[in-house]
Amino acid sequence: MKIALVGIGKIAVDQHVPAIAASDDWELAATVSRHGSVEGVEAFDDFDAMLAARSDIRVVSLCLPPVPRFEYAAKAIRAGRHVMLEKPPGATLAECHMLERMAHAHGVSIYATWHSREADKVSAAKKWLSDKTLNSLHVTWKEDVRRWHPGQEWVWEPGGMGVFDPGINALSIVTEILPDDVHLKSAYLDIPSNKQTPIGAALEFVHPTGAAVTADFDWRQTGDQIWMIEAVTEQGTLTLTDGGARILIDGIEDAVQSENPLHGEYPNLYAKMARLVTNGGVDMDLRPMVHVSDALALGRRTAVEPFYE
Ligand code: NAP
Repeated sequence: MKIALVGIGKIAVDQHVPAIAASDDWELAATVSRHGSVEGVEAFDDFDAMLAARSDIRVVSLCLPPVPRFEYAAKAIRAGRHVMLEKPPGATLAECHMLERMAHAHGVSIYATWHSREADKVSAAKKWLSDKTLNSLHVTWKEDVRRWHPGQEWVWEPGGMGVFDPGINALSIVTEILPDDVHLKSAYLDIPSNKQTPIGAALEFVHPTGAAVTADFDWRQTGDQIWMIEAVTEQGTLTLTDGGARILIDGIEDAVQSENPLHGEYPNLYAKMARLVTNGGVDMDLRPMVHVSDALALGRRTAVEPFYE
């Protein structure tokens, strides 16, 4: 199937282009970007022009930041194209619900992707937790924003989500592996005095059996980067670390290791999109986004020192 990639920035170059190139399902037939392009692929700098000129391309993958994404997705759906959305699927929940309704009305597929759910050991964690009694779960997601988001001013603007841009990856894993749904109880947000979005967040959730479910997100981490989820159960402790690439039960690591455990994430997303388009359907799990939205609604804000890159 021919696919167009829209927004040729960091994630498109790092992950989408190689995943499409490695797939038998997809042919990268066009790009749409004001500054970026991919060698050997027809490049447009205007989305309407691409939609008009390339009726043979039935699928578009949107790699833009969340705020501009709705307009592009809505245009694509109205033009009868199937749509794949980078995470988070929109800047607001209302936008995401609208896109879902539009996809149904136009008979096209839409896929809200959550790449971290495709990390190597997430499905093993889900399986292990499925029959355990949870006492507590804690997320530690601490990384250096200067290292992972150089020059990306949009993350600090309204809709850019700040530390929830990586934090929503952790929440996508938590909502996938926990057998029970949780909802947000309280949040504390550290917001640099010169920015609009949090650089740190501490979350507390309500779990139906009373288990303590909490998360700490921080973008001020230097040195070792930590992407870890620890679940303490009556039957033992699960540690999912390195963003879902490694799993330990009671401190003992799973003996079966992939050679490059994070590299299946984007190939898996594109394989899922191929199945969705072939079989017809909509996949819009908005639970990670609901938690972020609730944290921004309920969060108690503290102004912290200004952030300069
Ligand atoms: P990015 O490099 O800053 O932006 C991607 C591209 O979107 C830009 O190169 C730009 O291309 C286009 N763009 C930016 N603002 C726009 C606007 N207002 N209107 C139209 N086009 C605009 O961002 P990214 O890191 O690739 O992230 C994009 C999405 O992927 C985000 O939702 C992010 O959460 C997700 N993601 C990122 C990473 C990562 O490691 N960076 C990992 C996983 C997921 P042109 O200027 O050429 O049009």
